[in-house]
Amino acid sequence: MAQQIGLFLNPVGQRRVDFQGMYADMFARLFIADGTEQATLLLGQERVDLLIIDLERFDSSFDLDAIAELIARRAGAPVLLLCPFISAGWLPALMKAGPLAYAIAPLDDTDLRVAITAQLDTPTTSGTPADDLRALLALRTRMQQALLDVDDITNVAEQICVALCDVPGAVHASLFRMDVPGDLQLEAQYSPTGLNLARVLHRSDRLLQSPLRHAFPGLVAACSNEMALLDAPAKAGEPELALSLVDKGVEMVIGLPLGAAPGSALAGSLCLMFGRARQFSCAELDSFMALAQLAGFGLRMAAMSRENEALLGRVTHLATVDALTGVANRRHGEHLLELEIKRARRYKVPVALIGFDIDRFKAINDQFGHPVGDAALRTVAEVTQSVLRASDVLIRSGGEEFLIIVPHTSAIDALKIAEKIRVAVAQTDIAGCDRLTISLGVGQLADQESADALMQRVDAALGRAKRAGRNCVELAMS
Ligand code: GH3
Ligand code: MG
Ligand code: MG
Repeated sequence: MAQQIGLFLNPVGQRRVDFQGMYADMFARLFIADGTEQATLLLGQERVDLLIIDLERFDSSFDLDAIAELIARRAGAPVLLLCPFISAGWLPALMKAGPLAYAIAPLDDTDLRVAITAQLDTPTTSGTPADDLRALLALRTRMQQALLDVDDITNVAEQICVALCDVPGAVHASLFRMDVPGDLQLEAQYSPTGLNLARVLHRSDRLLQSPLRHAFPGLVAACSNEMALLDAPAKAGEPELALSLVDKGVEMVIGLPLGAAPGSALAGSLCLMFGRARQFSCAELDSFMALAQLAGFGLRMAAMSRENEALLGRVTHLATVDALTGVANRRHGEHLLELEIKRARRYKVPVALIGFDIDRFKAINDQFGHPVGDAALRTVAEVTQSVLRASDVLIRSGGEEFLIIVPHTSAIDALKIAEKIRVAVAQTDIAGCDRLTISLGVGQLADQESADALMQRVDAALGRAKRAGRNCVELAMS
């Protein structure tokens, strides 16, 4: 014969009526409260052996503190929390308020009776075996190590999953991430048993559109930024998903938000699957949340370092490349010439320099306009580039003046290349204006000669080509 007194708390009238109808027989007396105020009042007036708080329809932003206070007032007297699986985020805070047992809802009639009976018979406030905590601590250390070597995001995500599978009982770990806003993806997964989550979810990208986004804890956590804990696959209300999970030996799934704002790039979740369901202690849930935050932090670091590299690449590009033609700019060109001269000296090979200048270019601008002149400059650079070898370096050294570093090449061979460029340019139709010609000077680096001296000799040869009537090549004097 039931001798104990219960108090059931939930804001929804129908739920209170249903509970009373179904479970009043388990108690000598069952009180019902519609809110924390009424519950507090009742607890002040009556002896209550078991307080059952049904979190369904409570709102964590309004009610969390009041419920925590209620649990604290119990001071260790039995509390059973019925927690919807998508609202597991309530658990750590409430467990800190005072000892309690939780049951993940929805619960069927039998499960709920078992949970209530357990609390009426031998109320438990589950602690964590020291071994489990030690394992979690070791895991945290491993994860920190994995994150120390932050480089590529996918790589980091994979290492996190491998480390997570060290959690006792874990059969699968995965990481969901929103790289492009709006597209939640299965970024990485690892399973010692070979389980493939992409098969269970039927896809690995556009997961916000998946019908399982309200059911699978990894997706729930990424969408809501709240922990989700499913301790029996059937509770998710998706029979096919439940079947598939059970078939692969999964009995419990926990989804943990990465800590970035939901919907933002880098929002996401960690998801752990276990072969057996069990209750977690507050310390364990806290550790899981901390691990997810750590993982989120690591991923944000990896994303930042990726952005930095891209930025550095762009800055380098801007500093070394001529914006109009896309060839090396003067400063970078001079640096490359110094390098090439050093190399030529070290390996005792020749290096040549060609300089050219577009003939009567001022007239092109005057007659056809500056934009046409710009386009002509681009065309000349393209045509020249098409004649050169990959190892030759084209430099825009000034307005309509260019230099070409020609490694491993003597003056005689450079003359031939210069002549080829002259002919190619002269034969090219230029959009919007007449054909153009160029005048060129060619020189080979002499022993002990500096880059400046070589450039001056080539420039002088170019001047002679101009004076000789333009559209021709002149060899620099040694
Ligand atoms: P020459 O045959 O003696 O080289 O005659 P030139 O008219 O080419 O020589 P000059 O040095 O007198 O003129 C060079 C012209 O190149 C002047 C300038 O308007 C033009 N120029 C320089 N840089 C650019 C540029 O970036 N875009 C355009 N459209 N024109 C440029
Ligand atoms: Mg000119
Ligand atoms: Mg000029």
